[in-house]
Amino acid sequence: MSTATALVLEAPGRLVAHEIEVPEPLPGEALLRVEACGLCGTDHEMFTGAMPAALPLVPGHEVIGTIEAATPEFLSVRSLAEGDRVALEVFQRCGDCGPCRSGAYPLCRRHGLRDSYGNSPLSSGAGLWGGYATHVVLTTDAVVHRVPAGLDPVHATLFNPLGAGIRWGVTLPGVREGDVVAVLGPGLRGLGAVAAASAAKAGFILLTGAGGRDADRLELGRLLGATEAVDVTQADPRALLKERVGGLADVVVDVTAAAPAAFVQALDLVRPGGTVVVAGTRGAHPLREFNPDRIVLKELRLLGARGVDGAAYSAALDLLAADQRLRTLPRRTVGLDPEALSELLTTMAGGDAPPLHAVVVP
Ligand SMILES: [Zn+2]
Ligand SMILES: [Zn+2]
Repeated sequence: MSTATALVLEAPGRLVAHEIEVPEPLPGEALLRVEACGLCGTDHEMFTGAMPAALPLVPGHEVIGTIEAATPEFLSVRSLAEGDRVALEVFQRCGDCGPCRSGAYPLCRRHGLRDSYGNSPLSSGAGLWGGYATHVVLTTDAVVHRVPAGLDPVHATLFNPLGAGIRWGVTLPGVREGDVVAVLGPGLRGLGAVAAASAAKAGFILLTGAGGRDADRLELGRLLGATEAVDVTQADPRALLKERVGGLADVVVDVTAAAPAAFVQALDLVRPGGTVVVAGTRGAHPLREFNPDRIVLKELRLLGARGVDGAAYSAALDLLAADQRLRTLPRRTVGLDPEALSELLTTMAGGDAPPLHAVVVP
């Protein structure tokens, strides 16, 4: 019996290294050797306690790794072999229930957030549910995607934010070649939406940020395909659109965080009959004064977006393999070191210069 090293979040702010027994895979299961695990907002919210979780547990839900050991059942239904590099989805899929059959498996009736990867308690099964570890147990219902050859595991962790960018920025609103697309918020998901719109051959892509803090990210947006990238505290994006495209945006994607005013701006920037994708959450900053008449008068299509689906994850991995520009994003990596990772998560939760992309490399 071998052991895995895992960082267990025992209580908010308390990350401790544990040695955990690695079980032989049961029929239908496999063992993943973790190569890299991306970090996002959920990680620092779970770490600080801002988001409640069933502690103690091993966090980490943007996992890339190679299949170290597997039962034939696991491999045959997925057409995989031992040694293959895969990206692991957060949610399990039973494949049998109504939502699973319709493709909406994040709403699976047998599984859910409580038994998702990076969120399941240490007491469940072998306890190896998260990417802050050398190993993760892949269940019968785990959903994985093969990582294209030549794509580095650290870069491959972008499958998660880029998958969101593809679904929110292109698939959901139905962006077509030549469309004018405005992306509000230059975080990892906003930049992913820019890259996705660029790959979908949008005719004009505007990226907005707010304040000097976003300057570097706006510059990255230009590198990833934004036609214009502006700071809304310095320039009027509506005037800019009118000047450059002679009108407004066909599609506006709001991926801002805790910026209620951005929603109003999204309604301002979209053309009559256009589509607004609302993916940013306002948190504790609700919109106080808002007149919904603009939605009526412009006959807008408003789409809420929260999750990502398998098709978008798969497309993200292909785009990462094809587009070298996405690999140049600045990032910080840490090993399985409780102190270094705690420091990184604290910085992400509210430090001065949070890294754009952060990755745990066991
Ligand atoms: Zn995440
Ligand atoms: Zn199901």
